[in-house]
Amino acid sequence: MRSYLFLFLIFAGCFLSGQSSFEPKRMVPAIVVTSENDSDEQSFNNLNGEQIIELIDSLLELDSVSDRMIQTLSDYAENKRLKEDIFVSLTGFYDSSIYPSHSMYDKWDTYQLFNDVTSDLNEGESRLLTLEDTSNECRFYNPFKGLITSNFGWRDGRSHNGIDIDLQVWDPVVAAFDGMVRVARNHPGYGRVVIIRHYNGLETLYAHFHRLKVKPGDIVEAGQVIGLGGSSGRSTGSHLHFEVRFKGKPINPRSIIDFNNNNLKSSSINLIKTKYSYAAVPEGVYFHKVVRGESLFKIASIYGTTIDNLCSLNGIRRNKPLKVGQKLMVSRQ
Ligand SMILES: [Zn+2]
Repeated sequence: MRSYLFLFLIFAGCFLSGQSSFEPKRMVPAIVVTSENDSDEQSFNNLNGEQIIELIDSLLELDSVSDRMIQTLSDYAENKRLKEDIFVSLTGFYDSSIYPSHSMYDKWDTYQLFNDVTSDLNEGESRLLTLEDTSNECRFYNPFKGLITSNFGWRDGRSHNGIDIDLQVWDPVVAAFDGMVRVARNHPGYGRVVIIRHYNGLETLYAHFHRLKVKPGDIVEAGQVIGLGGSSGRSTGSHLHFEVRFKGKPINPRSIIDFNNNNLKSSSINLIKTKYSYAAVPEGVYFHKVVRGESLFKIASIYGTTIDNLCSLNGIRRNKPLKVGQKLMVSRQ
């Protein structure tokens, strides 16, 4: 308890004496709080993040507090709350840093959409990522349940780094996973765009919003509204452009999300480093190389699975002809 008060007095001292203010500030004598007995001390120590924020909010109503101090205090509260959240309920799934997945990224950049980050994996190496941890209330929500109008991959000679989901202006769009908002701003191409960093190292991007409902540093939960759909930026018609990235490299959202059923293909995935990017493979899934004469029916029977399952895993239709040498994802059932 003493260290918090001490810290606060140091802050107060610094900013009251060194602030650049618009008007001369009345000097305020330092506020010294002493506890009457041990039980008071206990109750201060037991304040949770919300209560600390309330306490700071009430301090900030004093008119002698500078903008810079408000920022510092709110950063302090934000960090305090985040650390608590992590340590209390989510040990093991979340890492213990100030920003989600701090250990995997060098930077927390609230302006640049994606920086080139060197990978800690070599080509062919994989990393298992947990996407959903229902025992810790970490779930997935489909950002917007709508018709997919454009898929991931090459389109008109350019790579389309996400998928497009049709929506109407003002439709609410939600965060896919828990995390912290890294970017929330207007961008020439993406329009009003939100990027959320998640605790497993993935980032999700949501573009062409009409209105943003979050700002950088906000902690969001899966299913929380982060913006209202629109067609800002380079967009023809209102839609949500949705991307999933790891270390800046785009991943096909369909390889981890089953958009038809609004759930994940698997609660964890293996992220495999490829030459230029990453491939996400649901846990327990293998690759099968198609040989001459094989059909979906034959492959399904080899692995004891169904044609529907093969189609859903690979995002293909039942009547799509197979090519010799083509790799199909398969899971044994
Ligand atoms: Zn798009």
